[in-house]
Amino acid sequence: MTVRVRFAPSPTGSLHLGNALTAVANRRFADEHGGLFVLRIDDTDPVRTFEGGEKVILADLRWLGIRWDEGPVRQSERSALYAAAAERAERDGGAVRDADGSLRLDGVTLLRGDGSATYQLATVADDLDLEITHVIRGSDHRPNEPLQRRIAVALGGALPEVIHHGLLLGEDGRKLSKRHGHASVADLREDGIPATALRAYLDELGLPVHDVHLDPARIGRLAIEAIAAMPDDELVAAAGAPVEAAPALRGARTLVEAREIARQVVSPAPVELSPETGPTLERFAELRAGAPDRLDEAAARTIVRELKAVGGDLRALRLALTGEPRGPELWTVVAALPAAEALERARRAAGRG
Ligand code: GLU
Repeated sequence: MTVRVRFAPSPTGSLHLGNALTAVANRRFADEHGGLFVLRIDDTDPVRTFEGGEKVILADLRWLGIRWDEGPVRQSERSALYAAAAERAERDGGAVRDADGSLRLDGVTLLRGDGSATYQLATVADDLDLEITHVIRGSDHRPNEPLQRRIAVALGGALPEVIHHGLLLGEDGRKLSKRHGHASVADLREDGIPATALRAYLDELGLPVHDVHLDPARIGRLAIEAIAAMPDDELVAAAGAPVEAAPALRGARTLVEAREIARQVVSPAPVELSPETGPTLERFAELRAGAPDRLDEAAARTIVRELKAVGGDLRALRLALTGEPRGPELWTVVAALPAAEALERARRAAGRG
């Protein structure tokens, strides 16, 4: 029997991290068992469904490197299946039709008066129809399991094996949700957390038995590691910088910081420095002019060291080259700039531009 799992988000916006954890857990379970991952979009609730919500979710999954083998299967396109399931539950399963046309089983509504299926009916009908073998989801759904078992029996089937994992909690100890902020995949992407870092964090959590607090500090450390390990071409593309700037970007803690460093290197704010910095900038110009157009690490470090040895004002050089008093290690900035550009910046800062 082929293992078939499903991930079934409601299209309410970017996945919150708890949902992303469920998605990663399903993908890993499928991979470990040579199984298939079905993507189902639970878009029957018009209040929770918004235009473009599905697209956002697909983009989140792609960004995190979570493949799906089948789907997206949209619940909004499967009302005929749910109607047939409701009929079967009424005919053979002991479900009862109310005067308003709604259908109930054990007091729980399966079909509303307008004929639309509730989550409880739709999810069980889908799990049976899509031949899902294992349901892996957050433990907030644990209370649904007994009812869903009874619905499956009423539909002439049996519920797949169900595995509930612990939830991700915010700092306040409550289930992570939009209101926590910095809690969705989109939030972390905007914070400059590389996809590989978030994926590593979710993989590390695995299938938690108990609820776990989200650990932003751990995510931060994984982001630093991910940026340190990124190939040069990927890093400079993510930051929008020339390849020579890779060493300067390498120490960034997030891709937002990397983009800020790229901005300093590529288009620094103009500065004009006081006359006392003149000797430093002149000495730098001499050293730089005497070195090759493109500098390797050793050559760039030598220039900075020699400048320091003669009492040069390194802070002034940094300001001249980047427009900022703080930033990446100075040698990496020197190495990022071709000779002509570095000389030009030094001249301009000295008021001789
Ligand atoms: N759409 C439901 C949710 O996002 C799916 C629940 C389930 O996996 O059965 O919570």
